[in-house]
Amino acid sequence: MQHTAVIAFALALGGAPLLLQGGAEEADAQLARAQEKYEQGKYKEAQRIYRDLAKDYPDTEAGRAGARRSQPNAYLGHTRIVGDGPSTNRVDVVLMNDGYRIDKQKSWNKFAADLPREFERNDAFGEYFGYLNFVRCNLVSEDDNITGFGRTTSTALGGHVRGTIQGHVGVERDKVRAMLAELPADEHDGLVMAVVRVGVLGTGGDGIACIGGQGAKIAVHEWGHAFAALGDEYSRKTHEREGGRRAPNVSDTDDPTKVPWAHWIDAKARGIGVYEGANGQVRGAWKPKASGCVMQNGESFCEPCREAVVLSIYALVDPIESTTPDTNDEDGRDELVLDGGTLDFTVKVMQPESHDLDVSWYVLREGTLPRSPRPLAANATDRRSRGPLAPIDAKPDKQFAADRRGEASFRLRASDLDPGRYRVVVRVRDTTEFRGEKLPWVLKDDHGLLESERGWWVRVPE
Ligand SMILES: [Zn+2]
Repeated sequence: MQHTAVIAFALALGGAPLLLQGGAEEADAQLARAQEKYEQGKYKEAQRIYRDLAKDYPDTEAGRAGARRSQPNAYLGHTRIVGDGPSTNRVDVVLMNDGYRIDKQKSWNKFAADLPREFERNDAFGEYFGYLNFVRCNLVSEDDNITGFGRTTSTALGGHVRGTIQGHVGVERDKVRAMLAELPADEHDGLVMAVVRVGVLGTGGDGIACIGGQGAKIAVHEWGHAFAALGDEYSRKTHEREGGRRAPNVSDTDDPTKVPWAHWIDAKARGIGVYEGANGQVRGAWKPKASGCVMQNGESFCEPCREAVVLSIYALVDPIESTTPDTNDEDGRDELVLDGGTLDFTVKVMQPESHDLDVSWYVLREGTLPRSPRPLAANATDRRSRGPLAPIDAKPDKQFAADRRGEASFRLRASDLDPGRYRVVVRVRDTTEFRGEKLPWVLKDDHGLLESERGWWVRVPE
């Protein structure tokens, strides 16, 4: 018996010697110890363990991680500093540092702790602050300076001065991605805020924002570029832009029916029009608001920018967090049986800061269902691939706003139903309507991102 077990074990390893496998376990334990040291803020000790790992277990996964993490420019670890929701249903803002040597990590931690507050203070990110997680990475840099002005330095993200008069800071995207690859894939959305210690001003686009180590104030502006693909609403030429002159808030035409924010003009939003001077150009690029937007130099987003931010958040975050009973069964084969008595359904929904999401419950007889939305693939992270939900003609059986805990329940009674098969459907929607405001924050939701749905089959026997 014992003999057979040993053979099976060896086969499972594909013929690898047992000794090596034992080494892998020991190496994993060492890696866990390094991470423990990291979490305790003992960065030099973590670095030492990584170095030993690389030396003692070069042929293991953990040993290779140790080799990477003990380089002069390296990832040390990461930790969640704000937010307690599941990464899979949050916007994960990953903060990375460049130009911080091993003994300067504590000062990075202090700077990183201030960054979420800038988002909390902002109108759009503040209202949806609970939809965000902030993850701090600690990266070690060999040098504590920046490349530029005739100097070349060696740092974790290749922080450099871009060829501009003001010396806008930038990072190397490949290096950012390599560091991001140290995080488990389901703990980030490919979005990074990089902070270059001695850099000034900032740049951003395509998922990566970059700011100088003095500039927490401009974090939200650069995040607007990186996260919501917003353009600049100022006309001063600062740096060469990679993108064209078209963004939710930048237009290459002054025709009010053709600008990307035409629907805001139609809705007569106050102060929204077509103003020349945007995208770092005095002529040939237009913006929705004369002044005051974060993407120019203001404190809060203009309406088209705010709409783009909210939609970008909902591209990653489902308004429905979870349900009881669970509804993993998207093809709808599972069935609950209501043979007398009652069945209770609960939905936990996302909770913005100052308004509640609407929750509608429907009990639909089989054969009267609307076309179901295309379910998201298991690995889909962008909710835009689902498309809008089909309208339901019936009136909801129950409709209300979720309570402040973000929960809403529905009770189905056997005595109210004839025998047959039913679909209990819950739809949750963020109206983005606020008391005292004439227009909702989102006017145009082409992908139906503000709404989500779950359903259960229920059979009432004869
Ligand atoms: Zn704007």
